[in-house]
Amino acid sequence: MKDNEQIAEIGHYVGGAQVAGRSGRAQEVYNPATGAVTGRVALAGADEVAEAVAAARAAFPAWAAMPPIRRARLMNRFLGLLNQHKDELARAITLEHGKVFTDARGEVERGIDIVEFACGMPQLLKGDYTEQVSTGIDNWTTRQPLGVVAGITPFNFPVMVPMWMFPVAIAAGNTFVLKPSPTDPSASLLYAGLMKEAGFPDGVFNVVQGDKVAVDALIEHPDVQALSFVGSTPIANYIYETGARHGKRVQALGGAKNHMLVMPDADLDKAVDALVGAAYGSAGERCMAISVATLVGDVADRIVPMLAERARSLTIKNGLELDAEMGPIVTGAARDRIAGYIETGVAEGAELVVDGRGHRVEGHEGGFWLGGTLFDHVTPEMTIHREEIFGPVLSCVRVKDFAEGVDLINAHEYGNGVSLFTRDGNVAREFGRRIQVGMVGINVPIPVPMAWHGFGGWKKSLFGDMHAYGEEGVRFYTRQKSIMQRWPESIEKGAEFTMPVAR
Ligand code: NAD
Repeated sequence: MKDNEQIAEIGHYVGGAQVAGRSGRAQEVYNPATGAVTGRVALAGADEVAEAVAAARAAFPAWAAMPPIRRARLMNRFLGLLNQHKDELARAITLEHGKVFTDARGEVERGIDIVEFACGMPQLLKGDYTEQVSTGIDNWTTRQPLGVVAGITPFNFPVMVPMWMFPVAIAAGNTFVLKPSPTDPSASLLYAGLMKEAGFPDGVFNVVQGDKVAVDALIEHPDVQALSFVGSTPIANYIYETGARHGKRVQALGGAKNHMLVMPDADLDKAVDALVGAAYGSAGERCMAISVATLVGDVADRIVPMLAERARSLTIKNGLELDAEMGPIVTGAARDRIAGYIETGVAEGAELVVDGRGHRVEGHEGGFWLGGTLFDHVTPEMTIHREEIFGPVLSCVRVKDFAEGVDLINAHEYGNGVSLFTRDGNVAREFGRRIQVGMVGINVPIPVPMAWHGFGGWKKSLFGDMHAYGEEGVRFYTRQKSIMQRWPESIEKGAEFTMPVAR
């Protein structure tokens, strides 16, 4: 899609082919850098969701029966195609999400990591075996796929977050229905096409575009065995509770408020670089963005002026321009919501050091722009500290020492990511042990775990027991079966009425 191309009709992908929506409901898709409507995405009704689930269900028996090594070979072909089409996928992200092209490419590459991980599925599905659990009896465990599983994903990573889910689920032998965010739906159809080109049988991977109607249809459908969700906390909570009530396995990853604790001994130039990238990269629309700088002792007096200078001089422009550091906000509504938080911050007494409201980009006057924003003297009870803003707003909170910083972070209701900048190994070690957050970076601002480690926060950032991808992802999409076996020679005569024990 080009900036000035005519409006695209964006439909579903079911049973190996694109299909137009027919519910009569649709939603506009914008290019956030220009504010122009570039597409209309269909919003599926329950019957369209049922068709996608039926296609996935029909494909399941043969797919599950295919030897894992052959499934992995198809995944390997998909991997090759993704590498060939990286730029096309990144461009699709930038045109509908707004994040800068170089960042979008990074997103695609982190998605590709998971596909590489899924190529190793034969090893990951390999079970355990014990010979002779009792005389003449062996016992082993296998992991088998669940059936049709579904993914419901947010706007902020339209390629990477679905790839946290479907490569693992599909390589493990499940068939998949993805319900992407209607805000930036086009990338999903691109990789659905690449799955087909790689040779995956029709119905193994399906996409239904939509909103709450489609999500509820997936939750309620008796043939959907498991739901993976990534999005905001209220919806994650809803999916978890409703999914469980419908007897489904659910992992629901929610929102975040990530702190970076900066100790007085840290390399402050590097801490400033890290804070600026982690707070304003992707316009702060990352669940692992740093939105609170927790500054110990005299650190604030030393770095707030440095942060202010950097926030004021961010290169903010259309993400397709390669020198852009930050693009627009995803929608006009999101921009206005974030601006509302800035107003609240001022009203509650925080010091607004840099105000990004009213930012203009020449030649793109209709775009959804907001400049980098910086607050100082934010206190824990302020709304801008308690709530997820999901925009380019960095709040500085001052604490007297390490212990106060740790307590402040641990008291927060979210626990997705956190970072510590220090040169002291003991402080780093204590931080890793005491901090109540799922993903921890030591001198690393955005510690998104690699493909084989698994992603997940604590507290209100994750509902469910299993993290996304990595070995927990494999466990989530499979059921363990234990088989105990003996052969007629070793069967003793007579009925046994006592609990069998090893002999
Ligand atoms: P969102 O919760 O609005 O939407 C997520 C998905 O849920 C979308 O597919 C959407 O169509 C669907 N949805 C929205 N409202 C619904 C409803 N009432 N009932 C059923 N389904 C509904 O989130 P978003 O704005 O697209 O994404 C931003 C949020 O996602 C942020 O809170 C961010 O922190 C979070 N996020 C979390 C992680 C993580 O790993 N924890 C990763 C990325 C994004």
